[in-house]
Amino acid sequence: MKSINPANGELIGEYPVWTEQQVTEQLQFSANAYKEWRETSFDSRKKMMLNLASGLKSDKEIYARLITNEMGKPISESTAEIEKCALVCEFYAERAEEFLQPVPVETSASHSYFRYDPLGPVLAVMPWNFPFWQVFRFLAPNLMAGNVGLLKHASNVQGCAIAIQQLTEEAGFPPHVWSTLPLKSSAIEKVIDSPHIKAVTLTGSEEAGRAVAGQAGKQIKKSVLELGGSDPFIVLADVDIDDVAAKAIKGRMQNTGQSCIAAKRFIVQTEIIKEFKDALVSRIESLKVGDPLDEATDIGPMARQDLREELHTQVEKSVQQGGVLVCGGKPLDRVGSYYAPTLLENIKPDNIAFQEEMFGPVAVLVEANDVDHAIQLANDSSFGLGGSLWTKNIELADKLVPRIESGAVFVNEIVKSDPRISFGGIKNSGYGRELGKPGIHEFVNVKTVWIA
Ligand code: NDP
Repeated sequence: MKSINPANGELIGEYPVWTEQQVTEQLQFSANAYKEWRETSFDSRKKMMLNLASGLKSDKEIYARLITNEMGKPISESTAEIEKCALVCEFYAERAEEFLQPVPVETSASHSYFRYDPLGPVLAVMPWNFPFWQVFRFLAPNLMAGNVGLLKHASNVQGCAIAIQQLTEEAGFPPHVWSTLPLKSSAIEKVIDSPHIKAVTLTGSEEAGRAVAGQAGKQIKKSVLELGGSDPFIVLADVDIDDVAAKAIKGRMQNTGQSCIAAKRFIVQTEIIKEFKDALVSRIESLKVGDPLDEATDIGPMARQDLREELHTQVEKSVQQGGVLVCGGKPLDRVGSYYAPTLLENIKPDNIAFQEEMFGPVAVLVEANDVDHAIQLANDSSFGLGGSLWTKNIELADKLVPRIESGAVFVNEIVKSDPRISFGGIKNSGYGRELGKPGIHEFVNVKTVWIA
């Protein structure tokens, strides 16, 4: 597997893929490690988890640089990603014991309750777009819950996978409590089939989700899927247009647009759509595109050349189907897989830019006649990850929130993940939840105990 710096096309690392024999051995090691790990106290797990947070913080510049070099994220965002990983470690270190306390239930038994036992080795198939964060939001709750983890990271960020492995070792986690499987996706079916693997989680595309969950289903193993999104960003006519346009661009362009919870469809009421478009264009024009290692850069290269090509094909198809290009709309003529920050307007529900996930710096404008139409457009999607609603009328917002079909609704804020609140989708955006209290309950055995 190769790591190629998307800012300049240079090969920065090559990693051998493991043999079947190595994988078989690792699965056995993980199963053995689980037997001891599940018996450890919350206190000792907590110490290691806090060590892990310290390790991340003390070398955050090194890890941030690694992220940026492997997948092109602007360095200021890579640094913020590492800081957030430390937060999620601290959050679960402090709260896991409380979240996993047995819950007494009154019945006719003399004593009855349910308890949360760990499941065993859990496989995590993770993507490249937040190559530390996506991993840590699985790692922290699961190791605290007494599970052991195996990571199949995306092929293009193997350096990040190795760094995370080293971090866990330095934090004092016993061998094989956290392991990395340097494997291509074609080898994952067999790993899921292994009797040692008890459950699997995947963050990535719909296609990968269908493959992994299908295999887990065949083996009757629990899965959690965090897939793509085409999040609506609903703008009602009463907003401060400039302020909201600034948030819109942040929500859409962070991580060079490669985020599942990026605002993807700007659904704007007719009365203000022209003014809102102008505000978006001026924000887009002021974005600094360039070297992702430069602190001032807003937009770096896309993570891989093929992803840029895929995005450009979508943009071209969208225009053929009636979408109107307002700005951008092409790969940039420079070394690296840069794509011009783009705005498309006149996007209707039958347009590819409305229906598919656009995983790059492309914003699309959709016109809504009124509030009901805006909600109808927001829901007219096969995805349902997040959504944001922008209005000064909080009473109205309260009424609209239940009507929006998504795993999260943010009012007057861009959708974001936070260790304290749950995260996940409905429809083709997946199922199950990460983070918060629900996140640590996904991979546990909720065991009923009845004492007559
Ligand atoms: P993938 O979904 O292909 O990759 C995500 C992870 O899944 C990687 O570790 C990948 O491994 C693995 N994977 C892929 N196919 C399988 C399979 N059949 N069985 C087991 N594991 C598999 O994403 P891409 O990198 O190809 O990106 C394509 C699109 O996916 C993006 O444009 C975007 O729309 C969406 N995406 C969504 C993400 C999100 O946060 N929800 C994150 C990343 C992508 P490997 O790298 O070895 O192929």
